[in-house]
Amino acid sequence: MSTPDEFEFATRAIRTGHHRTPEGEHGEPIFTTSSYVFSNARQAAARFSNDEPGNIYSRFTNPTVSAFEERLAAMEGGECCVATASGMSAILSLCLGLLKAGDRIVSSRGIFGATTVLFNKYLARFGIETSFVPLAEPGAWEKALGPDTRLLFLETPSNPLTEMADLRTLANLAHAHDCLLVVDNCFCTPALQRPLTLGADLVMHSATKYLDGQGRCVGGAVIGDRKLVGEEVFGVLRTAGPSMSPFNAWVFLKGLETLELRMLAHARNAQTLAEWLEKQAGVVRVFYPGLDSHPQHHLIGTQQRTGGGIVTFEVRGGREAAWRVIDATRLLSITANLGDTKTTITHPATTTHGRLTDEEREAAGISEGLIRIAVGLEAIEDIKADLARGLAIL
Ligand SMILES: *Cc1c(COP(=O)(O)O)cnc(C)c1O
Repeated sequence: MSTPDEFEFATRAIRTGHHRTPEGEHGEPIFTTSSYVFSNARQAAARFSNDEPGNIYSRFTNPTVSAFEERLAAMEGGECCVATASGMSAILSLCLGLLKAGDRIVSSRGIFGATTVLFNKYLARFGIETSFVPLAEPGAWEKALGPDTRLLFLETPSNPLTEMADLRTLANLAHAHDCLLVVDNCFCTPALQRPLTLGADLVMHSATKYLDGQGRCVGGAVIGDRKLVGEEVFGVLRTAGPSMSPFNAWVFLKGLETLELRMLAHARNAQTLAEWLEKQAGVVRVFYPGLDSHPQHHLIGTQQRTGGGIVTFEVRGGREAAWRVIDATRLLSITANLGDTKTTITHPATTTHGRLTDEEREAAGISEGLIRIAVGLEAIEDIKADLARGLAIL
């Protein structure tokens, strides 16, 4: 079923993208086929020359993958979406499609570790340099822009300190300098924040996280307009081949149907947990956008619907104390992954940010007492009790 734009978000999340076959199936089918058959040689020629739209080969298009792309594009408010094998291949495809040697990226410092390595180690080899700036300081972004800057890249809120960028301000800045603003919308998802409606040019996702929401599959996506995404990024996909598998697309498609319900429930649990943590002895500081104490709290309700599902807090006593709290848990999963129904707990300084030098970690504000929780959907009383065990022995 093809859905007109006037349907509400929840309806698009459930109805968009499935084009029912003559079998009349109600559920979305998984098309496990690598190639497609043509009626005759003339049609084959027309497909290959792009004179006739349609499937050729599943590295290019697949109906299950297309259904996921159409649905996610409708949810982000973009014209076009290209699904990829992972979140990292979404960023790589975007960069290969839109940049050339000599171009520069200005990026937030507080981004996913592998993204930093991709920019600094691999893109740099091909003559694309990246400068890093503090996410929440528009003045620093402006100062870093040069004549060759082509992309501004960020995540908001940031990991693990939950700092937020003002997307409208940065979109205006990007456009005044003829640059594109790219937002990794992994933490909020379109259920809580739609950067394209605030002026961003491109959104990318690690579908591995909340879009799936149950820790089953690895995947990614890039969303934007027909020219940038439908032509440039799609061109990289069909040529270089980091395509999404139909099975994974089907899992993500079903994940999107419950995305809004899940994100609001994650955020409700996270808000309750953050408020509770603020009152615990031994907790020095809690980082959560939904708290009045958060420096960009004013963006809640305008840019970002709720505080989201990630809560970070600092305990007194550094690494030893943080590890003690983590090791005292019985229910929470000790893993750096996030965006799952299961609550996860991690020590950023020695895991996700372990490869940084001490100076880099200090500049990024990642102290040894910091603990990050990706709050899941278990009963909040059980999550609190599991953390209380460790906090009690600090
Ligand atoms: C996990 C993650 C990625 C990378 O996605 P993969 O699916 O693991 O390749 C990129 N950005 C953010 C914010 C992430 O959390």
